This record gives sequence, C-alpha cells and structure tokens, in this order.
Amino acid sequence: MSKRIKVCDREFGIYISAEAIDQAVSRVAQSLNTDLKGKTPLFLVVLNGAFMFASDLLKKIELENNISFVKLSSYSGTRSSQVVSELIGLTEVVKGRTVVILEDIIDTGLTMQRMLEILNQQEASEVKIATLVFKPGAFTADYKIDYIGLEIPNDFILGYGLDYDGFGRNLPDIYKIIE
Ligand code: 5GP
Repeated sequence: MSKRIKVCDREFGIYISAEAIDQAVSRVAQSLNTDLKGKTPLFLVVLNGAFMFASDLLKKIELENNISFVKLSSYSGTRSSQVVSELIGLTEVVKGRTVVILEDIIDTGLTMQRMLEILNQQEASEVKIATLVFKPGAFTADYKIDYIGLEIPNDFILGYGLDYDGFGRNLPDIYKIIE
C-alpha cells in the first residue's frame, strides 16, 4: 500500500482505486439496464454513505426512473430496551413499484434486512438490492443481494462515500485501515 493518509487518529492505505471503482459501478449499471429493461424503477439511495456510488451509477442508468434519498434512523422506543428503526425521507409511493435499493456497503446485513422489512410492508412489487461493497465473511442475514460491485474481506474501509468518524467521505479512492 503506497499511498497513505491519516484520518482523525488512524492511518489508512489505498485499497481500491477510483478506476477500479468506476469499472465496478459500470458493471452494476449494465446489469441493471439489462435486467430491468422496460421497467420504471424507483431507486432508493441510502444516506449518507451511498451518495457517491448513487451519483456515479445513476449517470450510467438508461431506464426511466425515479430517485428518493432515504435514511434508516434508529431511536429508542418507549421502553428503554426497545430500539425501533424507521425509514425517513421516502417521498415516493412504493406500492406496486420495482424498487432498487442503492447501498454503499453490506457488512452483517442487518441494516438492509430492516430496510427490506419496511419496504415489504409497503407492498413494492419487487425489491432489488445493489451494493457497491459486500463483506461476505461478515454477512449473517438471509436474503439475496442482487447486484454487488466489489467483494472484500472483513476490513474497515473509507472513502467514496464511506466515513471514519464522519471524515473521508469525499475521497475518490477507497482506503483500508492499517492496524
Ligand atoms: P451492516 O448492518 O450491514 O452490518 O452495516 C451497515 C453499515 O455499517 C453500513 O451502511 C456502513 O454505514 C457501516 N459499515 C460497515 N462496514 C463498514 C466499513 O468497512 N467502513 C465504513 N466506513 N462503514 C462500514
């Protein structure tokens, strides 16, 4: 790892170049264009991390589409042990639509699982998942990830939308933490 940067208190080395990311994004876009031909999908961009992936991917999408930006917010319920998650920012009607969730990274898969539960309640006709990065070694959930840009081991990464303590999201390359 030649190019090193310091973000907050930690050192990171370059891991996936902007060129390699662009190729992965193009592959996902091509698959979506082929698989969803003739459909009008609703893209749901999961904030904050997926903003850069979504911006690059959607420029390569040739389908008629709508885009909404959503956030899964967790808060404690009325009982102290109860954590409730809610999808905020969804302005489009989901019922009967082909929905494509755009996520930056799927790690354990629990965040996406909650998103799927919420969307299924809203009766989408089909829900597809597209993630830029997937960590198969950490995944504990039980659903199909339809489109994967890059598979990586269980390393902590930042850049291209992904942050460390709120920093580093604007970096065009992806970096890996140096332990
Ligand atoms: P999951 O619920 O799949 O375990 O994790 C989902 C969230 O954890 C992601 O949306 C992301 O915010 C965060 N996350 C997981 N792995 C990484 C990583 O390697 N780097 C960064 N910056 N965030 C991660």
